[in-house]
Amino acid sequence: MPGLELLPHAYFEKKIVPLDEAKVSIATHSLQYGTTCFTGIRGYHRDSKIRLFRLKDHWQRLVNTVKILEMPLTLEWDTFHTAIVELVRSNKPARDIYIRPLIFAHDCVLVPRFDGLHFDLAIYMFLMGDYHATTRGLDLIISSWQKFSNLSMPSKAKSGGSYVNSALAATEAHKLHKDDALLLNSRGEVVEASSANIVVVYRGEIYLPDLGAEQLEGITRRTVIDFLREENLPIHSGGLDRSLIYNADELLLLGTAAQVVYTRSVDDRIIQSENKPGPICQLLRDKYRQVMEGKHPRSKDWLYDVELTP
Ligand code: PMP
Repeated sequence: MPGLELLPHAYFEKKIVPLDEAKVSIATHSLQYGTTCFTGIRGYHRDSKIRLFRLKDHWQRLVNTVKILEMPLTLEWDTFHTAIVELVRSNKPARDIYIRPLIFAHDCVLVPRFDGLHFDLAIYMFLMGDYHATTRGLDLIISSWQKFSNLSMPSKAKSGGSYVNSALAATEAHKLHKDDALLLNSRGEVVEASSANIVVVYRGEIYLPDLGAEQLEGITRRTVIDFLREENLPIHSGGLDRSLIYNADELLLLGTAAQVVYTRSVDDRIIQSENKPGPICQLLRDKYRQVMEGKHPRSKDWLYDVELTP
């Protein structure tokens, strides 16, 4: 697994510091119990600026996660976006980046709780190109690990500990020489991939797992729904069983890291044999490009430019 191309500065304890100085004790609560939450934001290098996508929506999801988990922390928009802008400027990235804001507990205490701990924001960033291979579709499995139930873990909270479930599924896929895994909920419905939402195209119509099912509410998913609505394409939302997935015309994975990627096979059943995106995948990618180029009606709302040269 290639390491991250980390950029030299981080935001830690309310200031910008060299990344090497942004350190915690091995006794830190969040390291023992996964009591963190985070988000991941892409920044696209354009001329002398970094173009951030839906920054305020990422902040809002982080705030919502803090609320669900009852972490005693107030995360103001001003603090959040100022820290990101300053950090981007001090790192001066020469290529596209991925920004990871992370909320963690400093405390070295034994009890696994959220209340009574001291949570703080830390941010680091790294250079990032494509997350998945782009010259072919993905080969997926349906994991033997079930997606955790909404009764045991909040699926709308992007919490560190919940990624143990993702890691189990992705490890299973990797050991079978596949790219990633889809997870079923306790009702046998396909809800999402290990770290991406899904869209299914079946007989020319669009199917999405129900928002209330066990999936994160991805910012890419919301963006894609807006794109599909613009085109007046019929969208159905509900429970998707695995046989519908096997017979899909297109199965797309959606995420900030993954972006919009298509699937070649699921459990060795071919979805798309040709090494090129299907019509819906292409449509969504084209719309993303329009947004990034500032040519889409939502570009103004969704893009946040950070000038690298003052
Ligand atoms: N589901 C899971 C479990 C994820 O980790 C991610 C990646 N953040 C997503 C969905 C997609 O979310 P987003 O589009 O906001 O990146």
